[in-house]
Amino acid sequence: KDTADKIAAGEVITDPTAVIKELIENSLDAHSTRIDIDVVDGGKKSMTITDNGDGILVDEVYLAFDRHATSKINKLDDLNELTSLGFRGEALSSIAAISKITMKTMSRQENIGSLVKLCGEQRQVQKRSFSRGTSIRVEDLFYNIPARLKHMKKGNDLSKDIIQLVENLALSHPNVSFSLNVDGRHTIRTPGDNNLHNCIFSIFGNEFGNNVIDIKYENKPLLITGYIGKPSYTRNNRKHQYIFINNRFVQDNKIAKAIEEAYENMIMINQHPVFILNISIPPHMLDVNVHPSKTKIKILNESLVLLLIKDGIKKKVRESSS
Ligand code: ADP
Ligand code: MG
Repeated sequence: KDTADKIAAGEVITDPTAVIKELIENSLDAHSTRIDIDVVDGGKKSMTITDNGDGILVDEVYLAFDRHATSKINKLDDLNELTSLGFRGEALSSIAAISKITMKTMSRQENIGSLVKLCGEQRQVQKRSFSRGTSIRVEDLFYNIPARLKHMKKGNDLSKDIIQLVENLALSHPNVSFSLNVDGRHTIRTPGDNNLHNCIFSIFGNEFGNNVIDIKYENKPLLITGYIGKPSYTRNNRKHQYIFINNRFVQDNKIAKAIEEAYENMIMINQHPVFILNISIPPHMLDVNVHPSKTKIKILNESLVLLLIKDGIKKKVRESSS
């Protein structure tokens, strides 16, 4: 059982970023408005995610680390709509199978919380009082899977991946204040005032913030909101192009291309516009069989959607420069 669990866990959790992503998504699911992330050596030494969310009830704390334990599926229908970020109920159990975990949690509904320590088969739970929310520290990831351990990226490179991940999550949740500490250094701190512009300013700086246009464009069934760069403000790479679908960060070259095409003739060759856009698409137009932790999404009526996006952005770009 132990070996099978380790293998299964290794499939779900492939690196420190996967851990951080799962833990942040749990914090978001728990209605947190503040999420602090602290990583040491690219997460190889430790990763700590602290939130001010719902917390876990004393009686449910054991359950949280059981495989397929989830508090998030109410009815089977839920699986068809990717509303809640996580629904598989195996992130915590997977992480616990391949690392050492310390969790402090206290629910809003109780005045005593839990301190949980997990290491291999050892489980230790004590009742303790904390501030409301949950803090999970993950140490020595893959300590019991030498093959994985050996092939991990360098700490520096992992830190870059983590910064990128937290940027994506922060940009898609401007209502949540994110703070990221990398080896004791503050790298990201967003205000969480539900203002995407302020969120962008805090991450990319003032110059960027001053060169983007606020857009809101509805073309049923799509709603496109966010920021597009002025045609005069371009980059020679595509780094500052962010696409979210229903607030989930996605990597979709076709959508990026459709947006770039909307700028046709307005920017120089080899230059690329910047944009941070959320595209709301009704869930029934998305293929739910795509793994929820992946950044790829499948749109069912893709060519129509691409056309709507291109047309919408084109209008906005032209408006902005006329
Ligand atoms: P899932 O998120 O798919 O339900 P997880 O293994 O990620 O499964 O988490 C298991 C359960 O632990 C969740 O359903 C939730 O009840 C609880 N949980 C995990 N993290 C938190 C958190 N930060 N705040 C509150 N509850 C949490
Ligand atoms: Mg989860």
